[in-house]
Amino acid sequence: MVGIASAHELSQDGHEVTVFERRSTVAEEASFANGALIAPGWTAPWAHDHQRLAWPWSTSGAGLQMSRLPRGGEWSWLWQWRRSSQGPRLSSNHAQVHRWVRYSQERQQAITDQYQLEHDRSHGMLVLLRSEQEAAAAEIPLQQLRDLGLKPKMLSCDEARALEPSLSNETPLHGAVELGGEAVANCREFAVLLRAQAQQLGCRFEFNTIVSRIEPQLNSGVNLTLTHTASHPSGEAPSDTAQRFDAVVICAGVAAAGLLAPLGLKLPLQSVVGHSLSAAVREPMDAPQSAVLDARHGISIARLGQRVRVAGGAEWGRESGPPSKAGLQRLYRALSDWFPGAVRLGGPAGSVQEWRGVQATLPDGMPLMGASRLPGIWLNLGHGQAGWSMACGAARALADRIEGREPDIDLAACSPQRYGL
Ligand SMILES: Cc1cc2nc3c(=O)[nH]c(=O)nc-3n(C[C@H](O)[C@H](O)[C@H](O)COP(=O)(O)OP(=O)(O)OC[C@H]3O[C@@H](n4cnc5c(N)ncnc54)[C@H](O)[C@@H]3O)c2cc1C
Repeated sequence: MVGIASAHELSQDGHEVTVFERRSTVAEEASFANGALIAPGWTAPWAHDHQRLAWPWSTSGAGLQMSRLPRGGEWSWLWQWRRSSQGPRLSSNHAQVHRWVRYSQERQQAITDQYQLEHDRSHGMLVLLRSEQEAAAAEIPLQQLRDLGLKPKMLSCDEARALEPSLSNETPLHGAVELGGEAVANCREFAVLLRAQAQQLGCRFEFNTIVSRIEPQLNSGVNLTLTHTASHPSGEAPSDTAQRFDAVVICAGVAAAGLLAPLGLKLPLQSVVGHSLSAAVREPMDAPQSAVLDARHGISIARLGQRVRVAGGAEWGRESGPPSKAGLQRLYRALSDWFPGAVRLGGPAGSVQEWRGVQATLPDGMPLMGASRLPGIWLNLGHGQAGWSMACGAARALADRIEGREPDIDLAACSPQRYGL
């Protein structure tokens, strides 16, 4: 998503742009089946224990769940992540992310209007608070959102149920925070639509193409070595080619760390795995109207047209492999707690799409957006849990910088220079 958004903004500014993507189409990795939340305010720390490290033997599911014990430098990454998730640092990071989400939402809306894009989206979101203690903990992020200019509302249990009438009565609900405005949008669908618009502007897409080497040139420009993975119609073996560009923008998610390490750019990126379930609505009366976020478990349930998407979890230390049973079970449990009749679960195999995705995460929770210290190499990556909410704004701000214009939003907190990159 971040790459497509960047390509679109740069094409709109009149640059000649080529996107190289190792997959056969767009949004096949982290942007494939994410939670779809874009509501300003959704990224607030609604539960106090979401910022904790959960050791491998812990089964609570809250916080950053470690799948194994850390090794070597991983301890230092986790220590930095923990430090930035506490006290004043947490508040200032949240304020920064929040500004980006708002800015990005405006840009996304403008793009949607400009091209009259039709994608699954909805308004309004509830943060569900199961107990008095959770409602008390929510007061801090609530006040922070008010200070940032939002108007979130604290609702009683009855008021929340009036907005989302299908919420199960069996699960205790103390109250909810209502976040207004555009709240849900389908990331993959938007990426597919935006790709078509970028193409109309002249942007070229080369799929099944791995960027395998990046070489900044002494006399300006950057050489890319490209490995083509689709077999040639003549049956010829795939081969490498090289192309030179004035500049490159790296939007390779977590793979960027391996790509840039040979250049001496050591990105402190870690993979944080999340899960999602998507299933067709069984009975619209039993499905969510828009979106809810279970504050205790950090799990969202969103309506995407004729489907429901449940997403959440943050696992560290299991970079590859199939979706985790425990991670999926937490999602099924949250769905049956809040909307037990919303989707048909017992249908033919494959009727529920179970997915795991990797969030490229930096220890301070902010992405890398801007010029690296190497000429011609720009970064737009590491947006962690909120990359969809930030993509359109991040792309606009980066394109402004490349153009030599001051962006409408301050990029300082996202600068690659904070890590010496
Ligand atoms: C379960 C889950 C729920 C989430 N929910 C939300 C949410 O509700 N709201 C929100 O805002 N965010 C959410 N996110 C986060 C969001 O999905 C990501 O931050 C965002 O999709 C990242 O986009 P990206 O373009 O940076 O990465 P990706 O979508 O992973 O794109 C990177 C692309 O680079 C390509 N690539 C990598 N290396 C190479 C190479 N060498 N050569 C060629 N191509 C290469 C990959 O194939 C890939 O297509 C969620 C994430 C997960 C996992």
